[in-house]
Amino acid sequence: MTVLGCIADDFTGATDLAGLLARSGVKVNLHMGVPDAPPSDTAAFEVIALKCRTEPASVAVAECLRALDWLRAAGAARFFWKYCSTFDSTADGNIGPVAEALMDRLGTEQTIYCPAFPENGRAIFMGNLFVGEQPLAESPMKDHPLTPMRDSNLMRLLEPQVTRLVGLANRLVVEKGADALRDRLAELRADGVMHVVVDAVSNDDLYVISEACRDMVLLTGGSAVAMALPELYLEDGTLKTDSPKMETPSLAEGAIVLSGSCSAMTRAQVAAYLEQADGLRLDPLDLARNGADAATAWLEKQPVDSAKIIYATAEPSSVKAAQEKLGVAKAGQLVEDALAALAVKARELGVRRFVVAGGETSGAVTKALGVTQLTIGAEIAPGVPWCFATSAGQDIALTLKSGNFGAESFFADALAKL
Ligand code: ADP
Repeated sequence: MTVLGCIADDFTGATDLAGLLARSGVKVNLHMGVPDAPPSDTAAFEVIALKCRTEPASVAVAECLRALDWLRAAGAARFFWKYCSTFDSTADGNIGPVAEALMDRLGTEQTIYCPAFPENGRAIFMGNLFVGEQPLAESPMKDHPLTPMRDSNLMRLLEPQVTRLVGLANRLVVEKGADALRDRLAELRADGVMHVVVDAVSNDDLYVISEACRDMVLLTGGSAVAMALPELYLEDGTLKTDSPKMETPSLAEGAIVLSGSCSAMTRAQVAAYLEQADGLRLDPLDLARNGADAATAWLEKQPVDSAKIIYATAEPSSVKAAQEKLGVAKAGQLVEDALAALAVKARELGVRRFVVAGGETSGAVTKALGVTQLTIGAEIAPGVPWCFATSAGQDIALTLKSGNFGAESFFADALAKL
């Protein structure tokens, strides 16, 4: 049943990939971590979200192999290893080791590396990755706290991570079309080149790459190179036209926005939504002193179907002040714990639609709601779909938005879309 099994190295990346695959209207399942139970009720596209980007390579490899085994048990014969479109990896990064371990287990000889996402300003030319107009190593990614990227050349980044040869299929080949790219890959394979970086600067390039590589047992890249796969698989019959479709469960009206992200875009989104919704601001200092009882009492007083938002979202100066008093980790934890507990309270009060802002916040909320598997629904903004799940036996909808995603009207747009 499962046509493509996907493994993603972080949660919002998995949602992004799942959302792009779901554009086809075909059912996509998203799992938080490798499920304990064997596969059942599988979809054409199964995505497993791991949190292994910055794990030591040996740990990442072990987790990814476990995910691979589960996806094979689900029936998948083709696989996708999804990492960030800025090729985020540490000095002894694990993009290469994971790819090589997956190839070994699958007994496949060659794979491609294509983190390009032209719509989001990520392009690869002559093996060099660009963020907008800047080479990766001159972009803000050079100062990332966990995965600083100090080289823009993907071959040079990959070489120390793998044991076999690394090569390039450049834009001049891709431009000639799928047959030319297939020929180039065969030529490289004959020379023993197993890891091939592929240039792409536009969606057309990505389409050529998908067409040329759709039968590879393992593909690796950002989410965008997987975008055309559902259409191609439908065309050649790999994906049956009667595959289970995306379904929207009927849900009660009650909705809530929970925001723990302090990014610039989220601050604008909270301000915009407060013009039409009742809001409660959480202050970490107050939470440290008095706990979250006052917030719970506020939530209990709100009509279940009213527009409401609970947010810790604050200006950098206020975040800094709380962090100085409490410590960065403690301030964050207090907010995450409070929002997670309030999500559970909201569900108990009958709320079934949850809009959550913040990557870490999303993790805390889904965990508290006991959500381990999601089905992907309509896309609200590029890379941010609605997801459906059950929590304590109830059908719920969740959208999990990381910091800078979405337009200013995102919260209202999300709820209108459902
Ligand atoms: P983003 O996706 O924007 O990075 P995250 O939820 O991943 O958002 O991270 C935001 C972090 O900031 C969370 O740990 C959250 O608990 C914390 N936080 C939120 N509001 C505040 C605040 N007012 N003061 C201090 N920390 C905060």
